[in-house]
Amino acid sequence: MKTLYFDNNATTRPAPEVIEAIQPFLSELWGNPSSMHVFGGGVRKYVEQARELVAALIHAEPAEIVFTSCGTESDNTAILGAGTATDLKPNIINTRVEHPAVLGPCLELKDRGYNLIELNVDEVGQIDLAELDEALRLGPAVVSVMWANNETGTIFPIDEIARRVKAAGSLFHTDAVQAVGKLPIDVRRTPVDLLSLSGHKLHAPKGVGALYVRKGTRIKPFLLGGHQEDSRRAGTENVPFIVGLGRAAELARNGREEEQARVAALRNRLEAGLLQRCPDSSVNGDLAHRLPNTLNISFEYIEGEAILYSLSDLGIAASSGSACSSGSLEPSHVLRAMGVPFTRVHGSIRFSLSRYNTEEEVDYVIARMPAIVNRLREMSPFVTRGG
Ligand code: PLP
Repeated sequence: MKTLYFDNNATTRPAPEVIEAIQPFLSELWGNPSSMHVFGGGVRKYVEQARELVAALIHAEPAEIVFTSCGTESDNTAILGAGTATDLKPNIINTRVEHPAVLGPCLELKDRGYNLIELNVDEVGQIDLAELDEALRLGPAVVSVMWANNETGTIFPIDEIARRVKAAGSLFHTDAVQAVGKLPIDVRRTPVDLLSLSGHKLHAPKGVGALYVRKGTRIKPFLLGGHQEDSRRAGTENVPFIVGLGRAAELARNGREEEQARVAALRNRLEAGLLQRCPDSSVNGDLAHRLPNTLNISFEYIEGEAILYSLSDLGIAASSGSACSSGSLEPSHVLRAMGVPFTRVHGSIRFSLSRYNTEEEVDYVIARMPAIVNRLREMSPFVTRGG
């Protein structure tokens, strides 16, 4: 059966160019980059080239890039590393719609006695800047606001947020895991101190990520031990995947604008087709500020999981807003924070596209969805028969 992959916010297919770039580092170029001898020295320069490529994607200096094992490690390092750097006040500000990779370390600091403020979001998932300003009156804090939301695609006004946070003398981290490679990011213009990214969201393999640490920003390393990554992240570098991340960053930088315009056109086609052909459906998120690849759509009166199973039977992979946090059966904390009504939260599906999706695939989903929705509604306890 042909498979149609529409779950790119969960993970992306590694690009063939990335796989090709990795190969030599799994065979002849297997040295430890910290070794002084020829085996190590031979690979060190490729790690540094990858650092330059990742830095270039967000307009950073190579020395400001710390390689990590994933977006989660980057987020944890940023929040725990900055939150526990000695001269900062024990105040943390985040939003109610952060990824668990941010919420987890924030709650950990709260357990350790830090004051945690979680900013509310409105019905499209945006924070109120006046509420942020009010929270910033606490005094110096670590503030973490994601660049774009993984479930709805809502893009936050990070330039404006970062400026306010910096004007208040606080430290600003952004989880840009879903934004890097999809949106233009320039840390010379946007005053973020720390920014997380993850390889497997931009066509590199799982198991590699990076944290941008603005020059002069103090963080305590999360992993302790060796002096790798300029003593900011101990552990022998994952050379093959770092090289892969570098190649993925290069691909994203070269073709991003045209590629994302094409992806947005496909997403819009899917959205229009589904809204038109499936009654009682609506889109969640900020339609005016949304990732080009993301469509979070609710089909009222039915369960997202049931839709997912039906799609999966046809070889179509998407994900559901009602159980999207890695197998949890809790309804999405993001949609709940937005005040999306119960019946819409439960019937929400996220389609997330990539450069590898085609118009033919989109049309296949549009053609199949009405029958799935109608059949499930026939069986739904939420629908009044004949009503
Ligand atoms: N932050 C966001 C917004 C994400 O979407 C994800 C993954 O889904 C992460 C962090 C965690 O990244 P990783 O899977 O690389 O640990």
